[in-house]
Amino acid sequence: MTFFLNISLLKTKTKKYSMKIDILTLFPGMFDGPFAESIIRRAQDKSLVEINIHNLRKWAKDKRGTVDDRPYGGGAGMVMMIEPITKALESLKVKSQKLNVKSKKKNSKVVLLSPRGKVWNQKMANDYSKLDHLILICGHYEGIDERVKQLLDEEVSIGDYILTGGEIPTMVLVDSLVRLIPGVLEKSDATKNESFSNIQLLEYPQYTRPENFQGQKVPKILLSGDPKKINKWREKEALKITKKNRPDLLK
Ligand code: SAM
Repeated sequence: MTFFLNISLLKTKTKKYSMKIDILTLFPGMFDGPFAESIIRRAQDKSLVEINIHNLRKWAKDKRGTVDDRPYGGGAGMVMMIEPITKALESLKVKSQKLNVKSKKKNSKVVLLSPRGKVWNQKMANDYSKLDHLILICGHYEGIDERVKQLLDEEVSIGDYILTGGEIPTMVLVDSLVRLIPGVLEKSDATKNESFSNIQLLEYPQYTRPENFQGQKVPKILLSGDPKKINKWREKEALKITKKNRPDLLK
């Protein structure tokens, strides 16, 4: 395995381009913090990504901003209506045969966050980071009218558990894919050897100063200055951690 070797020699072209992400939500305020800080904030400042948060109530059919109703057939909770979502997608000029849209953007995806979707992973984050336009729909309450499905390219889940809404899953998707857009991370090699990246191993252990913290010492090999030995040790440790925590990745 040579994947840890010569990390500094790996070169990637940093092409400057901008991706657009439109988020449809009933709770726009939830996004204030996460997208206004750190790397995602800098990516927007550098025009590498444009993130727009839209309040779905803007496309409600009445003045009260009604966007949900009781489920047909009875049952607990409310269901989000198809009409405001259809209108929102039309106004965002989304590519779909089912929508009344004249000018369409290429290389775009409409995605509903849903526990019934395909489970998000690093490969999907990588594929999505190459899109020109991504539209994310956050469900809430009991979910969304099933007929919205015909407007979607994909349904995505962030794991086998139920959250109150699609806002946190949306943040997870955006965070994981934006950091993969070329130019977002200052060191382009930073994502190469991470857990779940091109190699199916979890990442090796990392240490920083102090060298000795209350008797717990940094492994000597990391202080050796010998890149060959260090890489070998890291490979061994990565394999050990993967075997222990995620044996399924090794199958
Ligand atoms: N009644 C739905 C079911 O049993 O599948 C759950 C609805 S959930 C309370 C409300 C919304 O949260 C969903 O429409 C979806 O947008 C979002 N959501 C909840 N859990 C999620 C997950 N694991 N991944 C992605 N989105 C999720």
